[in-house]
Order: sequence, then C-alpha cells, then structure tokens
Amino acid sequence: MKLLEHEAKEYFKKYGIPTPQARVIKKPEEAEDFTDSIGKSVVVKAQLPVGGRGKAGGILFADTPGDAAEKARQLVGTEIRGIEVKKIMIEEKLDILNEIYVGVTVDRSNNCYVVLASSKGGIDIEEVAEATPEKIVRHKVDPIHGFKSFHANEIARKLGYSDGEMVDLSQILQKLYNLAIDMDAELTEINPLTETVDGFIAADARLNVDNNSLFRHKELKEKLTESYHGELTKRELEARNKGLTYVELEGNIGIIGNGAGLTMATLDTVQLYGGAPGNFLDLGGGADPESIEKAVNFVYSDRRIDALFVNVLGGITRCDHIAEGILNARGESEDKPIVVRMMGTKEEEGKKILSEAGIETMDSMEEAAQRVVALTGGE
Ligand code: GDP
Ligand code: MN
Repeated sequence: MKLLEHEAKEYFKKYGIPTPQARVIKKPEEAEDFTDSIGKSVVVKAQLPVGGRGKAGGILFADTPGDAAEKARQLVGTEIRGIEVKKIMIEEKLDILNEIYVGVTVDRSNNCYVVLASSKGGIDIEEVAEATPEKIVRHKVDPIHGFKSFHANEIARKLGYSDGEMVDLSQILQKLYNLAIDMDAELTEINPLTETVDGFIAADARLNVDNNSLFRHKELKEKLTESYHGELTKRELEARNKGLTYVELEGNIGIIGNGAGLTMATLDTVQLYGGAPGNFLDLGGGADPESIEKAVNFVYSDRRIDALFVNVLGGITRCDHIAEGILNARGESEDKPIVVRMMGTKEEEGKKILSEAGIETMDSMEEAAQRVVALTGGE
C-alpha cells in the first residue's frame, strides 16, 4: 500500500522527522488562506501514489496567496503520470541549500533491510544510481543486531557530514529506520531530504507498507478499504465486508471456485461454452462449511444470477464440507439451479451428501460448464 506524501509525512512527524508546514486542501480557494497565514512562498503539490511528480508537472511554485490558488486550480483534475489529481497539498517553500537522499527498503536477496543514502538527492536520483552507483551508500541491516546509532553515524560521515550536522542526519536515519520496522514498510524514503538554514527538513516523503502486514495496522486497512470504495461496486464492497474474495461481472451464471487459478479457469470454460459468468468468487484454501454457506448465499442473493456453478478441487478443502455448506445455504435460499463439480479430498462423502439431497455432481469441469450453460438457456 502506497501512502500519499501527506499521509507519509504524518508518520514522519510522529517519529520526529522534520517536515515543512503544510495543509491538504479540498478546494483551490483554501490555498489562499493557508499561504496567507504562513506569509511565505509555497509549493503546490499533487498528492499521488507515485514519485517523479516534479518532472511530470505535479509540483508547482507560488509566491502569493492568489497565485497559490491559481496553481492549485491548474493542477486539480489534470493527469500526472496517468493518474488524475484529486488531492493537493500546499506546503511552505523551503530555501534549499542542498538536497540529499535517504531511504530504507527491503533487500530481498540478502533477507534484510537496507539503509540507502546519497549526497546527490533530488529528482535525478535514478540517474545517480545508474551512472554513479558509488555515490550511493548502502548499509545492510543485520536483523539480529538492528540499526544502531554508530551505523547511522557512519553513513552520515560517509556523506561528508561532521559535528552537529552528522548527529542530526544520523538521528533522522535512525527515526526513518524505526518507522520502517514499526510500519512493516517495503520502502520509506526522503527525496529530497533538504539542508536548510534551519537544519534538515523532509521536502518529500514516501511510505509503502507491505499489504500482508495490514492486520497489524488497522488504521491503514480501513483507509485501503475506503480508497477502494470508489472503485468497488456495491456488491463487491458488501463481499469485502463479509470477508469474501469477489469480483462482480456482467453475466447471469454465479461462479464459486477454490483457488484463484481454478476460479479463473472456470470463468473461461463457462465462457467457452457460450455462458456469461456473473461473478468471480474464490473460496481460497481450507474453506469450512460456514464460509461455503456464506459464499453460496451471497451469490444466490444476487438477483441477476440464474444458476450457480460450484467448482472445487479438494485439497485442504474437503468435499464433504463443501457439500454441507451448499445444503445449509440452500435451506434458506431461493431454488436456483446449481451444478457442482468436485473431486479430491473426501470426494465420495461429499457426492453422497449432495446426491441424497437430489443435487447432481460431476467430475469434469467441461461437462459441468456445458450443463450450467444449458440450464441458463445458453448454447
Ligand atoms: P517528486 O518529483 O514526486 O519526487 O516530488 P518532490 O516532492 O520530491 O519535489 C520535486 C522537486 O521539487 C524536489 O526535488 C525539489 O527540487 C523541488 N521542491 C520540492 N519542495 C520544494 C521546496 O519547498 N522548495 C524548493 N526550493 N524546492 C522544492
Ligand atoms: Mn521526491
């Protein structure tokens, strides 16, 4: 999950990393108030989950309140690097003496975090990394010993700093590392970390959090759900809240499978035989009768759906559990036809349960797909 600059800067602040005075605005006119209140020139910044905004025209400068509002107006609604600008941050313009780069990221081949720093920061950091890799200091962090102040001091010295500046930079590096660890960051970066007469200030901020860790960061998980909000359909949102992996499609045949690959193959097969899948629903591994019941009920509750195709390969998932779940769901659902193809773990038991309830099961995905297409009046 890629946080926006202003979100990342909230975390920076919490960790004591200096950031410029700033305000996120909803309407361009608000830029005027803020610029007026700080009484300085400002930077008008598009808030996007990508870097390289400067080069793409997403960072503008303004010297007066009126100009700030004008620049904000110019930015809203434009596309920067293929993404529409919806949010803008107004920030005090720093008097930059020098721009450096610092970052913490995961070094996958060495199974550790790596702290990166370069005295050549700014918008051309990629070229620096390519043309003069020796200008970038890399410190692999030993996961047992961690990142200690003397490591950070050494990096700051390698960048050419001494005395107070060395200590200040060293502390920012340590704070950034602690933030990366606490937030399960895949990347956190300050580019540029600017040197000003008031010391080091983070002019930019990046924080990308590992999605697999979101159970530890509830506030971000909610935010992720919110940001998907606009993109998800009503049913998709409902499915998400129920913990179902579901994508709404246009057709009238409900599809439930286990495993993304098998479920995709099921969609393809139904389509091949002339049917129109109405959804993708992946039960995942090791589904229990309750989650199958929930999934079947959810697809049944969709008025567009005329028939349901359940395609399950029993591995960790047990076919008898699938059968139980289907029967429990049918108890409270309207009677739309259902076609079940199952094989693998507890296959015989599962088939027996279903056949006793009058539900036919099939061994072949192709046959089952043709059957469900026929039931819905397809070819
Ligand atoms: P990015 O291009 O998406 O990485 O956006 P940045 O926030 O890093 O801004 C791009 C460039 O704009 C920076 O490298 C700076 O050179 C410049 N910039 C950003 N903020 C300020 C500021 O407050 N003062 C000055 N003088 N330049 C700034
Ligand atoms: Mn930047």
